[in-house]
Amino acid sequence: MKIGVDLDGVTFDTEKLYRVCTELYEVLDLKKNNIKDNSNLVFQKRYNWTEDETQGFIDKYHEYIVRNANFMPGAKEVLKLLKEEGHKLILITSRGNNGEEKYIKITEEIFKENDFEVFDKCYWGILDKAKICTEENIDLMIDDYNENCLKIANESIKVIYLKDAPSYEINDNEYIKTLYNWGEIYRYIR
Ligand SMILES: [Mg+2]
Repeated sequence: MKIGVDLDGVTFDTEKLYRVCTELYEVLDLKKNNIKDNSNLVFQKRYNWTEDETQGFIDKYHEYIVRNANFMPGAKEVLKLLKEEGHKLILITSRGNNGEEKYIKITEEIFKENDFEVFDKCYWGILDKAKICTEENIDLMIDDYNENCLKIANESIKVIYLKDAPSYEINDNEYIKTLYNWGEIYRYIR
């Protein structure tokens, strides 16, 4: 199979580190207490922050998070297994959009340092993942953002919704399967 794999919240445990850092930033830096929607994956939509406050967070934490997020438990092991079993692995990530080449370089270094060069092809800076999944003839995409999953399923492509946070529920159907960790993902694919 050709399997599409998201980076943040799927390969790396970035989203959880974002959740920790956004909380610290709101409490310590902004001295506020007005989270508005804890289920939203997009941190800009979890808080009532001004543009300057949002930028302040990005300036202070974005690179730290990219450099320090761990791999998701089991992601490295299962992706290597899937590769050995002959699946093609295609990275499809929004990381690196807005011309942020720097973060692509950092990520490639992390892959190297961890002996984790499993992807046959990498699509960086992708906001419309459904389009790439269609063009690449992806058989199965793995993503943790409910909106991406719904759009990809809408193109009649199978998608695993990796739900690892107080994120929104999606009703599973013929194309969408909600799973909670990489062990379950491996079982499902096998
Ligand atoms: Mg993601």
